[in-house]
Amino acid sequence: MGTDAPKVGFVSLGCPKALVDSERILTKLRATGYDVSPSYEGADVVVVNTCGFIDSAREESFSTISEAMNENGRVIVTGCLVGEADMIKQQHPNILAVTGPQQYETVVSEVQKAAPIKYNPHLDIVPPQGIKLTPRHYSYLKISEGCNHKCQFCIIPSIRGPLQSRPIDKVLREAERLVEAGCQELLVIAQDTSAYGLDVKYKTEDWKGEPLATRFKELCHGLGEMGIWVRLHYVYPYPHVDDVIPLMSEGKILPYLDIPFQHASPSVLKNMRRPAFGEKTLERLASWRTMCPDLAVRSTFIVGFPGETDEDFELLLNWLDEANLNRVGCFKYENVEGARANALPNHVPEELKEERWHRFMAKAQEVSTRVLASRVGREIEVVVDEVDDEGAIARSIWDAPEIDGCVFLNGETELAAGDRLKVKITHSDEYDLWGELKG
Ligand code: SF4
Repeated sequence: MGTDAPKVGFVSLGCPKALVDSERILTKLRATGYDVSPSYEGADVVVVNTCGFIDSAREESFSTISEAMNENGRVIVTGCLVGEADMIKQQHPNILAVTGPQQYETVVSEVQKAAPIKYNPHLDIVPPQGIKLTPRHYSYLKISEGCNHKCQFCIIPSIRGPLQSRPIDKVLREAERLVEAGCQELLVIAQDTSAYGLDVKYKTEDWKGEPLATRFKELCHGLGEMGIWVRLHYVYPYPHVDDVIPLMSEGKILPYLDIPFQHASPSVLKNMRRPAFGEKTLERLASWRTMCPDLAVRSTFIVGFPGETDEDFELLLNWLDEANLNRVGCFKYENVEGARANALPNHVPEELKEERWHRFMAKAQEVSTRVLASRVGREIEVVVDEVDDEGAIARSIWDAPEIDGCVFLNGETELAAGDRLKVKITHSDEYDLWGELKG
């Protein structure tokens, strides 16, 4: 790329889904001929991809916009905070543009208005895999946008609209490009991964000369043929998830499910209007583990949802003990502007939320310690994420990057990020494992 190309500063906030949006915008900007600047200083224009999901994320988004305005002054805002466009413009009348999530083309055309580029047909600037914000050896694969559910605490369906699945051939082609570019692990994401294809009535597409339905099971089969790690995020415990568990026991996709249970009490789940709230989740987990004993399940929970009683919370703790989840995250309920849950009766006092959160985390730590101790002595495959002068920091098949734990390989300074190798687990603590190279 020529050094005369205008430079775009880019700040990406929020969840992995927002990160994928950022990658797409960057790919398009790069395709159009822009350089990406690592700092505000020297950038001709700054794009801030915001998150508006919970109050603390909104605050972070607002303060990043102010910082970008102070440091640079030529700012385009995109992402989930677009519902607050008026407030953003009121606070920063000189802001260049505020565009919504997934409006990649609008962001690119706003950047073009702010920092016009001279077209040079001789520069082929887009690496085939796009521009990555994640390390080269793993990548998020977004299979759909939007959501058909109506969880009371969530405003994503009103911001992002109903479920829109990407055609299966396009998703598999993107996966192939990423693998060709050196990706070792694909993290499949959507608001509801298990609902993939429902909106397009599982439309059949042509994949390598064969008809293939746009459906969760077919997608997992297709990805499972690529010889890399495939990790499923944001899956709901529907009966049809049973169909992909054999792929896990055959080693085609990772024995890992990220299921945002959010609670275990049927009445809280019903009040939350969670998908699959009536499912018997403990029974389902047990039957999956019979099919695939190595299955790891990670989840997130909300404590202190309006109306949550002491009994509901005790039920959640007992459920957690029995479910033996590998990893959990927990949030204290917060009102989200525009969410229906705000108007529910019986909000839980802050001190009680705090107390429940601490009790939940203590129980989760106890379960995690127990599950990890059961791994000691096993020989497993890991992928290296980072190497420093003390050794390598790797991850097991049971751990997703950024949200789960690590496998420390002390003294292994000669390895490189992306290496996949066999190790023997020698030690565990509450959240992490230690191992040594086999042979
Ligand atoms: S499943 Fe519920 S929490 Fe998740 S995006 Fe849809 S409405 Fe929001």
